[in-house]
Amino acid sequence: MAEKVIIIGSGPAGWAAAIYAARAELRPLVFEGAITEENRLAGTLPLGQLALTTEVENYPGFPAGNLAAYLDDSIESNKRQMMPPHAGHGVSGPELMELMRQQAVNFGTRVVTDDVVEVDLDVHPFRLTASSGEVHETMAVIVATGARANYLGLESEERFKNRGVSACAVCDGALPRFRNKPLVVVGGGDSAVEEADYLGKFASTVYMVHRRDQLRASKIMAQRAMDNPKIEILWNRVVDEVLGSESDGVTGARLKSTVGKEDLRIEAAGFFLAIGHTPNTAFLRGKLEMNEKGYVKWTTPMRTHTSVEGVFAAGDVADDYYRQAITAAGTGCMAALDAERWLAAKGL
Ligand SMILES: Cc1cc2nc3c(=O)[nH]c(=O)nc-3n(C[C@H](O)[C@H](O)[C@H](O)COP(=O)(O)OP(=O)(O)OC[C@H]3O[C@@H](n4cnc5c(N)ncnc54)[C@H](O)[C@@H]3O)c2cc1C
Repeated sequence: MAEKVIIIGSGPAGWAAAIYAARAELRPLVFEGAITEENRLAGTLPLGQLALTTEVENYPGFPAGNLAAYLDDSIESNKRQMMPPHAGHGVSGPELMELMRQQAVNFGTRVVTDDVVEVDLDVHPFRLTASSGEVHETMAVIVATGARANYLGLESEERFKNRGVSACAVCDGALPRFRNKPLVVVGGGDSAVEEADYLGKFASTVYMVHRRDQLRASKIMAQRAMDNPKIEILWNRVVDEVLGSESDGVTGARLKSTVGKEDLRIEAAGFFLAIGHTPNTAFLRGKLEMNEKGYVKWTTPMRTHTSVEGVFAAGDVADDYYRQAITAAGTGCMAALDAERWLAAKGL
């Protein structure tokens, strides 16, 4: 029998959608992604991007404090044992995501730990194929497969993730370890300037490392970078290595010249990537309307409808602008309500 709604994805958008859909008695089925080496390397394991970070200080409802007793009580013990010890700082990414998942399960959400690899949206009920080969039919679909931050791919960058290397200035910039210290931003587009500008509120200096002699950013944004006394642009440079130590995390970077000059070594306490994101939409290509960067298009303002009736999108997979857990969860809620109302209007 066809499901009422299948949710694909397991970040804040997916679980928020599941909580609302379950409480509306739609018995949602969530594909949370597969636990594979390929997904580990891509940063797309179940529970999404937030599970890749340590402290989450901007998600409402989790001020600093000791959550350990609450976590012991609310998360299944086999999962709880796998989580790092709670350090009394508020909530960590993995903790927050396990709490969201548990809340969805408590209301009757069923979870399949597998990737959806193919969708047929030309038939109704829609047909979704998992990587196991299983085919599931469903009246409505909520796509919440998120996106992944692009990294340079350096071994040293991987080593210092969460210890000074970050792909989200808004998320991490205010952490004490970055205050009044020099920081590096890699990239030259509008979002790199935005990140550098934001980090300028906390840092002593922000070095923007850019491979060319001109920013890719729009004129107005490029001017903003030039006018900010905290930002120093290091032109014609690429990162060769993120420098650091086991005890201190990131301490600097070694930069190569793209115009034949000598290597440059700079001191920095943080290393922020601003070289774009890749939406997890490869399996939807040609099936749903997308923008030029591959993000799913919302077709109605302030709604989560997509180009296919009965298919809704939530979170970073359709939003390359805000990219926050709270906005992903917000649109997850909207997608569940949109799906519920659409199913009711169709009498399904
Ligand atoms: C290092 C880092 C730190 C961050 N820190 C913060 C922070 O402090 N505060 C904040 O608000 N935001 C933070 N963010 C941003 C935040 O994590 C994202 O905005 C948010 O997770 C997006 O949620 P989402 O539900 O759209 O999707 P995602 O979190 O991207 O999760 C989607 C998941 O769905 C699953 N999936 C993908 N494809 C498929 C498929 N085909 N089938 C089945 N499952 C699939 C995968 O497991 C994927 O990871 C951070 C991001 C990063 C990378």
